[in-house]
Amino acid sequence: MDARVGADVTSKDRKMTNRNAEQPVFGKLSVRGVHWRHWLLTTLMAVCAVRPALSLELQNPVACDLGQECHIMQVVDRDNTDAAKDFLCGTLTYDTHKGVDFGLSSWALMAEGVDVLAVTGGTVRAIRDGMSDRSGYRKPNGDVGGRECGNGVVIDHEGGWSTQYCHMRRGSILVRSGDRVESGQPLGLVGASGKADFPHLHLVVRNNGNLIDPFDGRNALDECEARRPTGNLWSDSAGIVFRPGGVLSEGFLDRVPEYPDVWNDAISTDILPTAAPAIVAWGHFFGLRAGDVIDIQILAPSGEEFSRDRYEMPRNRATQFRAVGRRLRGNEWPTGVYTSKVSLIRDGSVIEERTGKVTLQ
Ligand SMILES: [Zn+2]
Repeated sequence: MDARVGADVTSKDRKMTNRNAEQPVFGKLSVRGVHWRHWLLTTLMAVCAVRPALSLELQNPVACDLGQECHIMQVVDRDNTDAAKDFLCGTLTYDTHKGVDFGLSSWALMAEGVDVLAVTGGTVRAIRDGMSDRSGYRKPNGDVGGRECGNGVVIDHEGGWSTQYCHMRRGSILVRSGDRVESGQPLGLVGASGKADFPHLHLVVRNNGNLIDPFDGRNALDECEARRPTGNLWSDSAGIVFRPGGVLSEGFLDRVPEYPDVWNDAISTDILPTAAPAIVAWGHFFGLRAGDVIDIQILAPSGEEFSRDRYEMPRNRATQFRAVGRRLRGNEWPTGVYTSKVSLIRDGSVIEERTGKVTLQ
């Protein structure tokens, strides 16, 4: 009833173009035995590398309703060990993850077509197209050796900045190497090519080859800090809000859906016959931590509680699916509107709550 969103892009995705390789900013700095001026110079150089002088202002890279149709599901790993921490020292990442994943809530939405947009103006350096959209799906290492990014675009911007867009839909790429693109220009469609378990855009930001976390503008090798950072590269108008977990989708059905159907279509209905074999509300969540509570409640047309499930997460998970409901015992259900409340609760606070309804007629 649940599934992990596995690693989708590894260090190998740098092979998309060898000019794109990431250079570590910090060598091992040894203070002892080194002249202090040399130490000071080296430190200043390191600080300058971490905080690029010319900043970048990024627009939203996906043409979908962030927080509803699509979600920021994984961000850059800011832990240099084999553990994983996001920029706030939370869990919305996995080990060696180098980008920001903008995930779609269903494969159906990918099929409809969601534009990938240039985050700012620049010149296209490289593209790749032609890889299938489920090449890495449900295959931990896929058939994508060395091409984990899948179909993608790399754009060079001023000041040594570059952005890379991965896992795009096969055949959708609209630009060619050398093209000049404007901020917000469509580059193609969100897909699931390369090492991707679900449809999403993996966006990578670099400065002079160094991987930069757009949520605080720092080098990805900088350890996380558990407080709201400054230096965010997102434009105010981009509407990028970081949420450390939430609801991907929810719905009503006359049965407990199969998990692939939830991912495929976010399968749901607004109307059920009074002879429906069951009334079920389901929720699909992301960014879960051990101890989080998933609370799904259904209220009958009378306003009384019809069914409820509170589930405490035993461990961290990238995604989780839960469903609750009742089977028909008599001949038919009372007519009227049944409502659901689907919530993700962390440390006693509601992270996200959505409501739904179905009419029995
Ligand atoms: Zn990713």
